[in-house]
Amino acid sequence: NADRAMYEAKRAGKNRIYFFNDELSQEVKRHVQVHNEILEGIRKGEFELYLQPIMTLTSNKISKCEALIRWIHPDRGIVSPIDFIPIAEQTGVIRALGDWILEEACYLSDLLTVKGVDVQIAVNRSVAEFFPKDTVERWLHIIDQYEIDHHKLVFEITESLLMDSGGNQLDKINQLRDKGIAFSIDDFGTGYSAINYLRHYPVDFLKIDRSFVTDILDDEQDRTLVEVIIKMGQTLGIQVIAEGVETKEQLAMLEQRGCDFIQGFYLSKPLPLDDFIAFYRSY
Ligand code: C2E
Ligand code: MG
Ligand code: MG
Ligand code: MG
Repeated sequence: NADRAMYEAKRAGKNRIYFFNDELSQEVKRHVQVHNEILEGIRKGEFELYLQPIMTLTSNKISKCEALIRWIHPDRGIVSPIDFIPIAEQTGVIRALGDWILEEACYLSDLLTVKGVDVQIAVNRSVAEFFPKDTVERWLHIIDQYEIDHHKLVFEITESLLMDSGGNQLDKINQLRDKGIAFSIDDFGTGYSAINYLRHYPVDFLKIDRSFVTDILDDEQDRTLVEVIIKMGQTLGIQVIAEGVETKEQLAMLEQRGCDFIQGFYLSKPLPLDDFIAFYRSY
């Protein structure tokens, strides 16, 4: 009987291992496929940067925008970045895609300036994009192909990049900042938030994550956290942007608490270039 039990357990175990391997290889296959489709998509021009307006609360002017990638897929329609950026980060293809994103953002910045649309453009940078040794040179080379004012570029990074002590990430950030590129901490408050790093890392903006803003009217704890982040920004000389503002009540509360900028569906969802320009002009 014991032998029999051992036999069954082994069999079950083996089956599980086979099943697991199968699942794993399915996932690897899917990742390889998405990786290749992204490279092909870049070549075929399937990606587009939408622009979401960001308003200065003291002047009520649109002063910035955030570039958010969309995949205009021939079969699948408009694909959200949530469905391919994490995979791109895992396979490493985010670096090729990120270079395309930066180049496109520079092109858009140039175009917007020509059209009299005076905004900073914020570009999301994944942690993995900072790993290669030549990241700074590569990015500066891309930027220098365009006659744009470096001060019009903002790089949005996450707290995890600042927590990564190895790899000279601080040096890279400083080199880019020396060239006039501003830095923003995205999704602020959702990471480890070892706020100690803010004393050592020179950043220009904090973006309060949408999850803190959503219930700001009803949830006292969330409201307090938002107030603390704004106070902290004021103390450290870092301007604060609230993400995910959807109502005028949220806007009013943030304004009253001294928040510097807002972004969210209350103003507008992310827009294709022409719609963004029309929005800016009619605002
Ligand atoms: P994120 O950088 O925090 O961008 C904000 C996300 O919140 C965007 O989603 C935006 O459409 C959405 N959003 C803005 N306002 C509101 C609002 O009022 N209500 C709600 N419910 N949502 C709002 P999106 O465009 O789907 O992007 C998701 C994430 O994908 C981004 O989060 C960012 O982490 C990543 N991502 C997008 N574009 C890029 C890119 O070009 N490069 C990299 N590395 N990541 C990107
Ligand atoms: Mg962002
Ligand atoms: Mg964000
Ligand atoms: Mg966010």
